[in-house]
Amino acid sequence: MIHEFDAVIVGAGGAGLYAALEASRGARVAVVSKLYPTRSHTGAAQGGIGAALGNLEEDRPVWHAYDTVKGGDYLVDQQAATILAEEAVRSVYELENMGLPFSRTADGKIAQRRFGGHTRNEGEAPVHRSCYAADRTGHMILQTLYQQCIRENVVFFDEFQTVDVILDGQRVVGIVALELRTGEVHIFRAKAVMFATGGFGRMFKVTSNALACTGDGPALLARAGVPMMDMEFFQFHPTGIYKMGILITEGVRGEGGFMRNASGERFMQRYAPTLLDLAPRDMCSRAIMQEIAAGRGVRGDKRIDDYVWLDATHLGREVVEAKIPDIADFCRTYLDVDPAEKSMPVQPTAHYAMGGIPTDTWGRVTDGSIVWDGLYAAGECACVSVHGANRLGTNSLVDLIVFGRRAGQHIREYVQGSSSAALPSTAEDRFQALLSRLTDGKAGPHAGPVHEAMQDVMMTHVGVYRNADSMQTAMDRVQALRAQFETLRLSDTSKNFNSDLLGLLELQNMLDLSLLTAASALQRTESRGAHSREDYPDRDDDQWLKHTLAKLENPDGPVEQQSVGIDYRAVDVSIWKPKPRTY
Ligand SMILES: Cc1cc2nc3c(=O)[nH]c(=O)nc-3n(C[C@H](O)[C@H](O)[C@H](O)COP(=O)(O)OP(=O)(O)OC[C@H]3O[C@@H](n4cnc5c(N)ncnc54)[C@H](O)[C@@H]3O)c2cc1C
Repeated sequence: MIHEFDAVIVGAGGAGLYAALEASRGARVAVVSKLYPTRSHTGAAQGGIGAALGNLEEDRPVWHAYDTVKGGDYLVDQQAATILAEEAVRSVYELENMGLPFSRTADGKIAQRRFGGHTRNEGEAPVHRSCYAADRTGHMILQTLYQQCIRENVVFFDEFQTVDVILDGQRVVGIVALELRTGEVHIFRAKAVMFATGGFGRMFKVTSNALACTGDGPALLARAGVPMMDMEFFQFHPTGIYKMGILITEGVRGEGGFMRNASGERFMQRYAPTLLDLAPRDMCSRAIMQEIAAGRGVRGDKRIDDYVWLDATHLGREVVEAKIPDIADFCRTYLDVDPAEKSMPVQPTAHYAMGGIPTDTWGRVTDGSIVWDGLYAAGECACVSVHGANRLGTNSLVDLIVFGRRAGQHIREYVQGSSSAALPSTAEDRFQALLSRLTDGKAGPHAGPVHEAMQDVMMTHVGVYRNADSMQTAMDRVQALRAQFETLRLSDTSKNFNSDLLGLLELQNMLDLSLLTAASALQRTESRGAHSREDYPDRDDDQWLKHTLAKLENPDGPVEQQSVGIDYRAVDVSIWKPKPRTY
C-alpha cells in the first residue's frame, strides 16, 4: 500500500512528537512508530529538563551553554549549544502552556533542581536548573505532546516498523515500513522525512535503555550512504541498578544523595573536589571503575560486575517519596531495598548515544558539505552536535524540545515550496531481498547467541575504558558476527506480530552501529569525555579537536568487502576556547 503525505516523521518520542506538532500547523503530517507513541523511551526520562528559568536562584542561558560546552569536553558546536540553552527557556514555557504538570515551588513557579555539571557563573557552584515533574518528567512530556498532536490532526501509524529509507540521489522520496499487525509492507511517499528513532543502548549488555532502543534510524541511513558522526562517544551513566542496568536518576544526587565505596567513603572527593557527586557522568563512571579496580568496590574482588553504593537514606522518607517516588518503587520491586532506609547497589550502565545522524541546527541531515534534500533527524538518533563527547543530564530532553521543534518548523516551510519526488520501482527491493533470504526455507542458526555475543563484545571492549587491542578485538568480532548474521534464518514465518522478524531487523541495525562505533573509537587516539583510552589517557586538542564521520562502505556487498571509511569535520569553537576540564 502506498501513502502520500507532505511529511513523515519516523518515531513518536519527544523529538518526533514535537516536530510533528510544529509541522502539522502547515502540512499534512504522518507519524510512523514501531511502538504505541506513549511507550517511547522518552517516557522513561526521570530527572528533568534543563532550562535557565532562574526560579530558585539567578541563572542565565549563557551559563547553561557554557556548562554544555565544558561538559561535552569542548567537542560541542558552540553556536548550537547557545541555541539549545536560549531556546530551552521558551520551549519549557510552551510545554507548560500546553498543560504539562510540572512540580512547583511554594510560590507556584516551575520547580527546579540541581544536576550534574550544571553550574552558576561558569563553575562556581551547582545551580538549580532542571525543571521536573517528580521523577516522571519524560512521561509527562509524551502525554502532553501526544494530546496536542491528536488535536492538530496528525495521522498516526502505530506499530509500523520502518525498514528502509527511499532516496533518489541526495533527495528523500519516502520510507518503507512493515505493519506489525499484518506483516504488510507499506510505502510512505513524502516531500520531507524526519528520523527521530531514539538511542541504541541495546547494543551493550548492561543498559538503561528500553528494548526498542536499537538505532534503526541511524542504521538505515548508514546503509543508504549517510556517514554517522561521533559514534565513539557513548555515555555510561554512573548509577544503574547493579546487574540490571535500570536507571537510578541523577536527580537522586541532585537532591543530595551521594555515592560511597565499600568502606563507606564518599569517594568523589578524590575525583571532583568542587562538584563531588554532581560532576559530569563520564567522570563519575570512571571514578566508580577506578574504585572497583583498586579493590574498593563492594564485592571487593575487582570484577567487572562489582558495584558501589548510592546513598539517599539521609534525605528522609518524605523527600524520597515526594521527589523520587518511581525510583523508590523500582528499588523495592527489583532489589527489595527501600532507599529511604538502605543504600542502593549501583554500577555504570550504557545510557546515551552522543553520536548519530549528523544535522545542522534546523535538523537537516548534512555531513558538512552535502545537505540531503528533505531529510531531517532530531533527538537522540541525531548529532547536532550539542553534547560533544559527553552529554550533561537533562540536556537530552532539552535537545528533543528545542531541535525537534526547530526541525518541525523547518519542515513546515520546506514542504510548502517543494514537490514529492517520483517513487522508484526499486523502492522495496532491499527489504524484499532480505525477507526472501530469511524465509527461503534453508536451515540457519537462531539469532539469540549472535545478539548476546554482540552485547558482550561491546560491553567488554568498547565500554567505560578502552585500548587499541580491545577495540581491534571488538572490530574483528563484530565483523565475524555480521558475517554470521548472513546465515541466520527466521524460525517463525507467520505474518502477524512476528517478533522473530523484528528482532532480526533490529539486530542487523545494532551490528552495523557496533561496527561504526568500534571503528570510530579505534581511530581516535586520545581520551575525551566518554571516550577514555588506557593507552592515550590525555585529551589532545592539537590532533583531535574534530568530529568523526564514519561511513559504511559498500553496504550492499559481501560482509568481508564492507569496511568503515573515516573522515573528520571541524568543531565550532567560536565562543569559548578549550580549557582543561576540572570540576
Ligand atoms: C531511563 C532513562 C532516563 C532518562 N532520563 C532523562 C532525563 O531525566 N533527562 C534527559 O534529558 N534525558 C533523559 N534520558 C535520555 C532521554 O530520555 C532520551 O535521550 C530521549 O527521550 C530520546 O528521545 P527521542 O525522541 O529521540 O526517542 P525515543 O523517545 O526513544 O523514541 C523513539 C521513537 O522512535 C520509534 N522508532 C524507533 N525505531 C523505529 C522504526 N524502525 N520504525 C518506526 N519507529 C521507530 C519508537 O517507536 C519511538 O516512538 C533518559 C533515558 C533513559 C533511558
